[in-house]
Amino acid sequence: MEYVDLLMNWYPGHHRDLPWRNTRDPYAIWVSEIMLQQTRVAAVIPYYERFLKELPDVSALAAVSDDRLLLLWQGLGYYSRAKNLKKAAGIVCERFSGRMPDRYETLLTLPGIGSYTAGAIASIAYGERVPAVDGNVLRVYARLTNDPSDVADPKVKTRVFDALSAVMPNDPGMFNQAFMELGATVCVPNGQPLCGDCPLKDVCKARAAGTAGLLPNKVPKKPRTIEDRTVFALYEWGAPLLLKRPDKGLLGGLYELPNVPGMLSTAEAAAWLTARGLHPLGDLMRYTAKHVFTHIEWHMRVYAADVAGEGVKDFIRSDGSQSIPTAFAVCLADRSV
Ligand code: SF4
Repeated sequence: MEYVDLLMNWYPGHHRDLPWRNTRDPYAIWVSEIMLQQTRVAAVIPYYERFLKELPDVSALAAVSDDRLLLLWQGLGYYSRAKNLKKAAGIVCERFSGRMPDRYETLLTLPGIGSYTAGAIASIAYGERVPAVDGNVLRVYARLTNDPSDVADPKVKTRVFDALSAVMPNDPGMFNQAFMELGATVCVPNGQPLCGDCPLKDVCKARAAGTAGLLPNKVPKKPRTIEDRTVFALYEWGAPLLLKRPDKGLLGGLYELPNVPGMLSTAEAAAWLTARGLHPLGDLMRYTAKHVFTHIEWHMRVYAADVAGEGVKDFIRSDGSQSIPTAFAVCLADRSV
């Protein structure tokens, strides 16, 4: 396939010098790929370096405390990724004597490892001839073949996986990285591919047809669900009062400002405090804030107050001497929300 050779010749002289490109360590590749899900490369680099320094191998990750792990991850978001990493590390230690499995199919059995990540680890670390199909690859392939199919359709992903499997060259790790890199730096999203700089420009069907800017085709997603919440930014002697969320579910195990569903009026918020043995020392200040998750948007009414009362003992008092992984930092650093 002509485009395979063009891509393989282009990659060595054009890829970015990223820390995870200089290793064949399956553990390091795994950590980088999980961090890169939903997160920009520039944001990931310092997290990746700190994470590997502190947890250099699977057994260190399996043994780390949940709180330490969340601290290492704090700021990257999508915390279930970190939890799955640790869970999978435990399984690797137990079932595979601490060595990352070297087959695509086996990697797929680990929590948090899907087809793309398994393909990346298996091909880059172990040279298995298997594709790693992510959004970048789907986009490049849709343009290269001028295919208007909906790239969010799992059947399209399977089709691309099969097509790439059939043309996989001798260095599958380089091939997969070249595809991803082209998508990240040249065949970029949002209708702006840099076709003039592209090694595939002479074989690209979308470029020939003038449709590159219109592809890939994506059926619009459902809008996010909007939830109203009332959040309490309560302070005892200037220290925020926090609660720990249940271990399972959204933002599981993180610390948060106390909050309840719905928009409470000032009188209802005052009654909520009284019911918990708290009384405000001064006015109950009211603010608004918004927090956006993947599928949900919290529209928040925030009540802030210095408080006293026996109910304080039911909260975790963050006096700043320890760093706490918070579900959301609203109000913690700055009381003017
Ligand atoms: Fe993408 Fe343009 Fe290259 Fe085609 S020629 S693969 S549209 S950058």
